[in-house]
Amino acid sequence: MGVASLSSAVVTSDATSAEPQASTPGVGSGGETVVMKFGGTSVAGPEDLKRAAARIVAERDRGNKVVAVLSARGKTTDELLTMASEISDRPSPREMDMLLSTGERISCALCAMAIWDLGHQAISLTGSQAGIVTDSSHTKARIVDVRAGRIEQALEQDNIVLVAGFQGVSTDSKDVTTLGRGGSDTTAVALAAALGASVCEIYTDVAGVFSADPRLVSDARKLETVSFEEMLEMSASGAGVLQLRSVEYARNHGVRIHCRSSFEQGTGTLVVAEDETLENPFVTAVTHSAEEARVTLAGVRNEPGMAGRIFTALAEANVNVDVIIQNEPVSTEHGADLSFTVARDDLDTAVGAIEGENGMSSGEILTDVQIGKVSIVGAGMRSHPGVAAKVFKVLGDEGINIEMISTSPIKISCVIAADRVDDAVRALHTAFELGADAVHEEDSTGEHKARALGR
Ligand code: ADP
Ligand code: ASP
Ligand code: MG
Repeated sequence: MGVASLSSAVVTSDATSAEPQASTPGVGSGGETVVMKFGGTSVAGPEDLKRAAARIVAERDRGNKVVAVLSARGKTTDELLTMASEISDRPSPREMDMLLSTGERISCALCAMAIWDLGHQAISLTGSQAGIVTDSSHTKARIVDVRAGRIEQALEQDNIVLVAGFQGVSTDSKDVTTLGRGGSDTTAVALAAALGASVCEIYTDVAGVFSADPRLVSDARKLETVSFEEMLEMSASGAGVLQLRSVEYARNHGVRIHCRSSFEQGTGTLVVAEDETLENPFVTAVTHSAEEARVTLAGVRNEPGMAGRIFTALAEANVNVDVIIQNEPVSTEHGADLSFTVARDDLDTAVGAIEGENGMSSGEILTDVQIGKVSIVGAGMRSHPGVAAKVFKVLGDEGINIEMISTSPIKISCVIAADRVDDAVRALHTAFELGADAVHEEDSTGEHKARALGR
């Protein structure tokens, strides 16, 4: 497999050992540094945690240096969020991070104990101790540097190093930060980049990345490989199996991600550069999200600069905007209607930010939390007309109303009613023949593509 992607690895501050090196497709075969990340379900109960510890030790026994990044156990992070909401309607973001970061610390300390019992040395570290440096935007901080000196020292002293995922420390404020839901994936990728690891193994509760959420679509097909570009679109449109930021980080730093089951052996899915992917279907996956909300501003003044003001206010409030729709008003007196979607967790912040901008609109701010989004992703659609038409027809035939549409060269997203999302995902997955029984060989004749497009 190609080494080109690794040669672009960006090495940060004191992670001086990160020489670009040849990649291997799976777990390191001895003498390498391997980063293994275990998600919440994979460390939920005592047996799960011991299973993870045994896998970590097996990797060490293969002669590799092992850094394991752990998530909080089971539903711990949700429980901590509930705890906070029982105390306060608007908890301080700084204190929220102090609270949320504890879940991952518990997992690491317990796992270190299990590893000692298996006869190996282990040391657990918080994100801060591990040198994960972030900006200071609490609850969705971005990693800006990895100072991996302490990890490297611990590895040299023959330790297995356990790093609490999802957290870091801001050098500005010296405060603990967290990286947003699913952030342990990003901790793992950032450490893999800084340590020059041959691969970043993401162990989770499904066998890899699938053509749709396997919990929703029973015949979803596991992908052997997926390109960074497709995975970025998939994560951005709801495939929570890898946090979006982790995929961005991996692409920018040339880290290979290997996503696989922590419960069984299997080949998993490799996330790699596009020229390394084994398959080239024109549609790769259907994704969905039910965690968004829509904001509509009625009667926005129809003059230059309005959109700039609105979206600057949102950006300054650190709100990510997804789909945006604005129409030219029917007459100048009317003003325009402007709608956009944001993560549901950001809805109050978004509305607050816009309310702070006076004199932009004559109408009210409407919100809708009953929306969902379904998307199809595939590098092949760049060169195949008719994909959008087919998506809209399939949804129409299902009696599903499309409320907003957005596209990129390799993605088509439709905002629809939240209660129709599951039907939409299944219908599109079937219509595009993405299931395990469909044709997946390289389609040199184009017949499969033609059939899937209904031609
Ligand atoms: P972890 O706790 O290991 O980080 P997550 O819950 O964050 O696990 O991610 C794994 C889940 O992602 C799976 O259980 C699955 O339901 C969901 N998922 C959504 N879309 C996909 C997809 N396309 N492929 C695989 N899993 C998916
Ligand atoms: N525990 C955090 C969450 O539930 C981070 C993670 O699991 O990656 O989102
Ligand atoms: Mg996750």
